[in-house]
Amino acid sequence: MMQPIIDEAESVLLHTYNRYPVVFDHGDGVKLYDTDGKEYLDFVCGIGVFALGYNNKTYNDALKAQIDKITHTSNYYYNVPAVNAAKAALKASGMDRIFFTNSGAEAVEGAIKTARKHAFLKDGSTDHEIIAMEHSFHGRTFGALSVTGTKKYREAFEPMIGNIRFATFNDLESVKNAVTDKTCAIIMETIQGEGGIYPADESFIKGVRALCDEKGILLILDEIQCGMGRSGSMYAYQGYGVKPDILTTAKALGCGVPVGAFMMTEEVGQSSLKAGDHGTTYGGNPLAGAAICEVFRQYEEKNIPAHAAEIGDYLYTRLEEVKSECPLIIDHRGKGLMQGLEFSVEVAPVINKALKEGLVLINAGTKIIRFLPPLIIEKSDVDDMIGILKNALKEL
Ligand SMILES: *Cc1c(COP(=O)(O)O)cnc(C)c1O
Repeated sequence: MMQPIIDEAESVLLHTYNRYPVVFDHGDGVKLYDTDGKEYLDFVCGIGVFALGYNNKTYNDALKAQIDKITHTSNYYYNVPAVNAAKAALKASGMDRIFFTNSGAEAVEGAIKTARKHAFLKDGSTDHEIIAMEHSFHGRTFGALSVTGTKKYREAFEPMIGNIRFATFNDLESVKNAVTDKTCAIIMETIQGEGGIYPADESFIKGVRALCDEKGILLILDEIQCGMGRSGSMYAYQGYGVKPDILTTAKALGCGVPVGAFMMTEEVGQSSLKAGDHGTTYGGNPLAGAAICEVFRQYEEKNIPAHAAEIGDYLYTRLEEVKSECPLIIDHRGKGLMQGLEFSVEVAPVINKALKEGLVLINAGTKIIRFLPPLIIEKSDVDDMIGILKNALKEL
């Protein structure tokens, strides 16, 4: 019986989410089970978090082993799991220095502070500007919210941090027009997630990189959602042949343990945050470190990015078929296992019907269905999903 739990939840939790009427109890692989024992195929995986699937035995064992040793020390001391996690993350990303956080938003905060300090050390002034993109999403804390391009998320909480200019994603001219001699950084998602699954055009991201190089501006890529193999490469920028100066990552980084990180090149690391400039109590503790190490170990063992690319292609083909059969679908976008179908109408009835039929889907905005399955899904899971989706589309 889920209703009493739902009622109780609504009486104690702050109402910041319109939740779906389901109480999940446990998971296994790509399946979730509610407290009544009903099975669901999961195409959300906790918003791109559970990339390696639920009840992953070696992952669980790695966490349990670390729990029996120590879960927290403090960043005033060294610990082995954090060092190994750092080495794995830097190897996967090609970056040189890392700072561990507890969430994505905090990683964005750190990235912004790094960029501002880097600029401050260059000219001593404190009026630097950052360019962010419309329709972007970077998190709910003040710095992250200040560079988030959806006005309704920001409006009631003004004033934001200052000196942010917005440009149009995939429009290089608009970015160029936003640059001034005060611009210290450009922040963007390589593939916009919450904003509606918009991959960067190759010419755009390469153009932004060249612009940054020409003007001495730092490029911050937020890969909190699109990173960690989801796009078909470990980090989505690797699929474009560009590299950021600062990178943010989170979500699948810990596969369920709350962790994030911001990384940077050696040059930025050497001339930005120094002892006393930034900190966190929990960030990079041994439990988080153990989770990250095991995540990267399995990514390598299972070649997760290549698998995501392969199954992503199959998902693309099957969703194209759905699109061709449903005139209400006006666009289909995405890369790897991060795809979206845009409709001319609101998609809530489809998502609700799918949930009843045992398929977990999520929207991005009111008219886009987002597909963010665990990266270990197989073609047969895609087929099962398509079957339920086609049926649920009859609700429109
Ligand atoms: C989810 C997300 C964030 C925020 O991460 P939290 O862990 O929720 O703070 C930031 N940027 C992007 C691109 C995201 O998808």
